[in-house]
Amino acid sequence: MPRSFKQELVGVFGWPVAENPTQAMIEPAFVAMGLNWRYLTVEVRPEQLADAVKGALAMSWRGFNCTIPHKVAVIPLLSELSPAATAIGAVNCVVIKDGKLIGENTDGKGFLQTVQAVRPVTGLEAVVLGAGGAARAIGVELALAGAKKITIVNRSLERGEELARRIQSTTRVPTTFAKWEGQYHPAASTDLLVQATSIGLYPDLNAEVEVDLTSLKPGAIVCDVIPNPPRTRLMRDSQQLGLLALDGLGMLVNQGVIGIELWTGQSPDPSIMRQALESVFAE
Ligand code: NDP
Repeated sequence: MPRSFKQELVGVFGWPVAENPTQAMIEPAFVAMGLNWRYLTVEVRPEQLADAVKGALAMSWRGFNCTIPHKVAVIPLLSELSPAATAIGAVNCVVIKDGKLIGENTDGKGFLQTVQAVRPVTGLEAVVLGAGGAARAIGVELALAGAKKITIVNRSLERGEELARRIQSTTRVPTTFAKWEGQYHPAASTDLLVQATSIGLYPDLNAEVEVDLTSLKPGAIVCDVIPNPPRTRLMRDSQQLGLLALDGLGMLVNQGVIGIELWTGQSPDPSIMRQALESVFAE
């Protein structure tokens, strides 16, 4: 058979996008899978998103990730949405198939896989700190996966209340909102505490998440969405108290794994992806 010099294209559209590390974890996975695929980090201004999507279709891209500020704006440009993307109201992964653009949201699913690797989510009582894009994806996926009860804790009232209402109305899982003022004390019945705000993101290495970890029961799970650095102060404090700490790098890798599976139909090796990211973050 003659050799093919053609690459299959995927990537991320964002603005700004230069600091997005996804390419560094996806391309080594493609190489290890023996796939001649490229993942491009592409700067797309908001007013040019529609042209960029048309361009991807015209060039037979296999799909793309969307990051800030395109996760909601891309929705009217798509052919259909997955049930999770509909419930979350945001798309971070688009699959192009037979000329159709299918919107998915892999952030929450990547998070779920991280938790489900240690404990089933069904029946868990969860507290989610934050009400932004990451918290929305996580809250909805927790509810869809069978969490018993969810509490959204957020600094600003409107966003927090809106998210609690969205989860309750789309999934029927009892969801309440608590305004975050001073230190938050989770109920002793909490099984899973998720830090889904941007507190602790590099370079803010010692930023404190104002939550009383001592009110959690032994064996409770504490998750952080912050991928860089993975060992945030919250992760260190949780480990010291004997709680089960799951870092944001796991979630980032898992959502990348799901994206690759959606685009290629094949499963990559997550350990290669995690190593690639760890070496980028260590630079
Ligand atoms: P958004 O800007 O949409 O939301 C930010 C959230 O953080 C809001 O709820 C905001 O509260 C809260 N917040 C920010 N600063 C503070 C503070 N000092 N005190 C209390 N609350 C605060 O961001 P995203 O949800 O998109 O992203 C959040 C984090 O998640 C980012 O750091 C991102 O890197 C990470 N992330 C990780 C992923 C992974 O795979 N590991 C995937 C996606 C995101 P308020 O509403 O009051 O402003």
